[in-house]
Amino acid sequence: MIFSNRFASNIYTVCKEIINMKLKSIKYFRIKLNNAWYAKIGGMHCFIFDKNGVPALAIGPHWPFYIGLLSVILVVGSIFTFYLAPDISPYMVYIGFCVTSFLVIGYTGTFLRNPGILIPEPDDELELESQTSQNKICLECKATKTPTSEHCYSCEVCIDGHDHHCPWTSKCVGKGNMIWFYAFLFGLVAFIVYVSLTLAFRQRTLLRRRPKKD
Ligand SMILES: [Zn+2]
Ligand SMILES: [Zn+2]
Repeated sequence: MIFSNRFASNIYTVCKEIINMKLKSIKYFRIKLNNAWYAKIGGMHCFIFDKNGVPALAIGPHWPFYIGLLSVILVVGSIFTFYLAPDISPYMVYIGFCVTSFLVIGYTGTFLRNPGILIPEPDDELELESQTSQNKICLECKATKTPTSEHCYSCEVCIDGHDHHCPWTSKCVGKGNMIWFYAFLFGLVAFIVYVSLTLAFRQRTLLRRRPKKD
């Protein structure tokens, strides 16, 4: 019994050590794992890295906002496209499907694309760099700044071409996902116009169908 307890406790200690080592190695610094598919950089969940350790996909800390708003878009889009629009015209169903799909694609692209994370420098390089060019290194995340970069305290990383932090897309909007963000905004405007027109046309259709009093 004592033996089995000691054995279990050893296994527990070894597992804890491995987990701690893993957490430490993936927390901030340059990803040396070319084949890695996931690492956490600051507050960002990053996927698919190139040979310089730059992730193609990066999901921000506010990902629950994306799930929430995406659900609302899908529910509203489905109600208008498949329930209200068929009363007006089949064209309104096609338009509704295209507008909702465009919005979801633009939104998901903004949510998934790396906004331009500047990868923090490893410790040893940092020592050299910080002595020669203090103001070129971000003191928060230890990344080398660019003229358009800014540190985001929500994402805990520096973003190249930083525009603003948008919780609805889960993270910052920057150089890397700006085009997707414009597509998302355009889709949102088109979606609002479509919803308003569907309501107006449906009202007109219902009024026409109402039997006239003599
Ligand atoms: Zn920074
Ligand atoms: Zn941010």
